[in-house]
Amino acid sequence: MILRIFGHDFHYECESLCRVYFPNEKINIVYDESGEDERTVITRCIPFNGGNRVEVDAVIGEEKRSLAAEVCADEAELADKSELRICQLIFEALSDITGYTPPWGIQTGVRPSKLMLRLIDEMGVEGALRYFKEDLLVSEEKTALAHTVASAEEKIINLSENNSFSLYVSIPFCPSRCSYCSFVSHSIDNANAKRILPEYLEKLAEEIEISGRIASELGLKLESVYFGGGTPGVLEAPQMDRLLGAIEKSFDLSTVREYTVEVGRPDTVTPEKLRILRLHNVGRISINPQTFNQKTLELIGRNHSVEQSVKSYQLAKAYGFDCVNMDLIAGLPDESFEDFRSSVDTAISLSPENITVHTLALKRSSNLGTSGTEVSGGNAAKKMLEYASERLRESGYEPYYMYRQSKCVGNLENVGWCKKGKECLYNVFMMEECHTVIAVGAGAVTKLCEPGTTNVERIFNYKYPYEYISGFDKISERKNGIKSFYLSY
Ligand code: SF4
Repeated sequence: MILRIFGHDFHYECESLCRVYFPNEKINIVYDESGEDERTVITRCIPFNGGNRVEVDAVIGEEKRSLAAEVCADEAELADKSELRICQLIFEALSDITGYTPPWGIQTGVRPSKLMLRLIDEMGVEGALRYFKEDLLVSEEKTALAHTVASAEEKIINLSENNSFSLYVSIPFCPSRCSYCSFVSHSIDNANAKRILPEYLEKLAEEIEISGRIASELGLKLESVYFGGGTPGVLEAPQMDRLLGAIEKSFDLSTVREYTVEVGRPDTVTPEKLRILRLHNVGRISINPQTFNQKTLELIGRNHSVEQSVKSYQLAKAYGFDCVNMDLIAGLPDESFEDFRSSVDTAISLSPENITVHTLALKRSSNLGTSGTEVSGGNAAKKMLEYASERLRESGYEPYYMYRQSKCVGNLENVGWCKKGKECLYNVFMMEECHTVIAVGAGAVTKLCEPGTTNVERIFNYKYPYEYISGFDKISERKNGIKSFYLSY
């Protein structure tokens, strides 16, 4: 579709909002108001004495809506208010044409709860809730969700001290590739990936050692450790043992509040791996069924069964992990509301401490994104999330963490639900950028947070494992940036 911009520079916001309605369409931005196409949103901002007149013409096939409003404000506020009003008009026009009213209104950012916290700080609770509902056009239900999550996050953020940090370990390998995944992860089925894994783990242990030395020299205090992927469960038990041992040797773990390994795919879970994880004091693991519908698992290329999801969870509980997370996804291809409802019910019946409900986000780089397979629309996914929310609440779970990805179906959200006192601290520390996360491995990004400010600097590792191995010298050199950062303020 074409997005025409005339008389303003709010193209980023207008484009993000159009993408909510047409997530898989290429949006061409044209700085010219003339010309009509079959799929166009024309936006204009025309100054007059004392304000701006803003106009939106939306043409989607046979449907056409033309809306306009006048914005009067002080010079300092005029641009912001005009931008807001144009977005509101786009929202009104496209919701009407498409029949989908996004419950997050015109709020397209990835961290709604972080925005809520900032607004509460600036304008108080009442003002923040009003701004969400009246200006951003967020539904009553999502406004309440953002508020609840923001309050839960605030308690966790307050645990963090000036010298706190967390450690993230990246294992970008998986047993096979899921069709909806756009993450840089290598299927271990592939001979090349299998071949480089041992060398990758050697370099990773080296980077862990370098990072541990730097953290100790700077007097940093480790709060949480998180193994993510990919699928860390692809590691064999002795490989896990060595890596966890390298962490113990390199870091002072006496201050760690939480140690998570996102095992990932249920088919990678074995008694021996669980034993090793417990031996190294890993307390939280994530086993991700995504759905309890066998047909969907096959369709999305996850080579495990529903039975394996249940059994691996039961095994984890038998090994004494005090927090187990299960991920589910709303909006998977060919899944009906009943399919999703049954997955939610099954997850709740197992009673894990955490259930994270994601909304499908289809990037072009995923197999599904290029296959043309039909996935649920916004209204269907919205109904699924409403069901999950209701059932989880009545089963004693509370939302404590939330984020969005671009291209989430219907601009909906991912929410971490937990039983009382079982929040995953790392998720909040990382998402809210309240302290530094030292990240190791391919694709890892170290985020350096200056305490008491919003200043965040990033150090990027190479994305692919083979680059990570061949360019390791460069990576270890870049790690010195951590020291320079802490010594510069
Ligand atoms: S297990 Fe996760 S990271 Fe791996 S391919 Fe599937 S979705 Fe992607």
